[in-house]
Formats: sequence, C-alpha cells, structure tokens
Amino acid sequence: MRLLLIEDDDRIAGPLTEGLGRYGFTVDHVRTGAAGLAEPAAAPDLVLLDLGLPDMDGLDVCRGLRARSAVPIIMITARGEEADRIVGLELGADDYLAKPFGVRELIARIRAVTRRAGAPAYVPAGALGVEAELQVQVLPAHQSASGGQALGPLAISRRSREVRVDGHEVALTPREFDLLAFLADDPGTVFSRQQIMDSVWDPHFFGPTKTLDAHVAALRRKLGDPGWITTARGVGFRLTVPGDHTEGSG
Ligand code: CA
Repeated sequence: MRLLLIEDDDRIAGPLTEGLGRYGFTVDHVRTGAAGLAEPAAAPDLVLLDLGLPDMDGLDVCRGLRARSAVPIIMITARGEEADRIVGLELGADDYLAKPFGVRELIARIRAVTRRAGAPAYVPAGALGVEAELQVQVLPAHQSASGGQALGPLAISRRSREVRVDGHEVALTPREFDLLAFLADDPGTVFSRQQIMDSVWDPHFFGPTKTLDAHVAALRRKLGDPGWITTARGVGFRLTVPGDHTEGSG
C-alpha cells in the first residue's frame, strides 16, 4: 500500500516513515502543500495530511486533493485544532489523528478508513502481529484452540475491533482496544511499560506513564475481572486468563 505523507516536521515524518515501512507500507514524503498537490509519480492509496504546513493551509490541500480524487485522506492535527478537524471532515477528509499518536493507532485508522472507502484490505496481513482476518481467541493455557470449545472466554477481533467476553460485547475506547490487542499479541508474556508506551501511544513517548495505569484499570473494569491483566511489579503487564492457575504446570 502506497501512502503520501504531507508533513513539514521531520521529527514526526522520520519515525512515521520508518515505522510504517516496517509494516510494509511504501511512504512518499513531501514537506509542503504545493508538493502534496503536485501530480504524483505514483498515485497514493491513501494520504496522510498534516494541517499545519509552511506554505499553505492544510485545509486547502485537503480541498484540492478531494477536488480531483477520491483517495482516502487522514488529517494529522495538533492539539486545539478541533475547528479545523470539523472543517476538514466537511471538506471530505475521512478521519483525523491528533498528535501524538503511535504507529499502531495510525495503522488501525488506515485500515478502518480503507474499509469504509470500500477499498480492498490494503493493510498487509500481520501488520498488527496476527493475520488480520483471524479472530484472536485467548484460551486458558491448559486448553488447546483445537479441542472442545470453539470460543475462548476472551475474543478479540482486530478486523472489526470488537471484543467479547463469554460472548458479550465489551465497549472499549480506541486506545483501550489498542492496549488490549497489543497485550494479546502474546498472551502470558510480560510487556514492559516502555514497550507498551512505544507501541500503543507514541514511539517517542517521554514522561510519566500514569495514563497507562489508568487504561489498565479501565480495561480490567470493563473486562469484568481484574485477573485479565496481571501486573509484573516494576516491569509491566501481561494478559492472562483469570483463575487459570495451570500455566507452567501442564
Ligand atoms: Ca506541521
């Protein structure tokens, strides 16, 4: 999938280009609105548009792109640009992301936008750690996925971003979902706080990670059992099945 990134700040464009590249995206990066509106050598499948550009208003770039193409557009906005987001959406942008954001969050939005646009599922399989079509099921350690019950107690669909516990849908915020999906990449494995912040929040996250604890607390509450997420004191968190004490012994 080919992305056109229109962003003047190399501190954002650099890690983004690199991170998206790791997930199999081709990124064409330009730094001005004029370059973004120039006839591209290769047509992008999706445009990532920073609204704060040096040469022209990002909203005019959005309008210009939309005037000639139905290419999906995701706006990248700074804090406090709510009015611009609304105008951008009215001008035909498909979605927006507020800085700072992580690569995984961006990929989830790309997937959602391309799906809404009726485009083929461009996001490469494995982009979020598992086959996109696969419904991830977390089963107790003693129970193999092939034997007996078809559904585990916790089912996470990365495709529809739905989460069910014992068949009941659990409503999560986008960030809570990303956090749960990240831990579910490898149930039972402890992920460090920094690993989680880097992947679920921002690749260059600095400062206090209290927000992580708040999201873990919310997830535990919504999943109906604090045992789903175990704290590894001084290290991080891992996903476990509540009441499952067979791990390691069988
Ligand atoms: Ca900018």
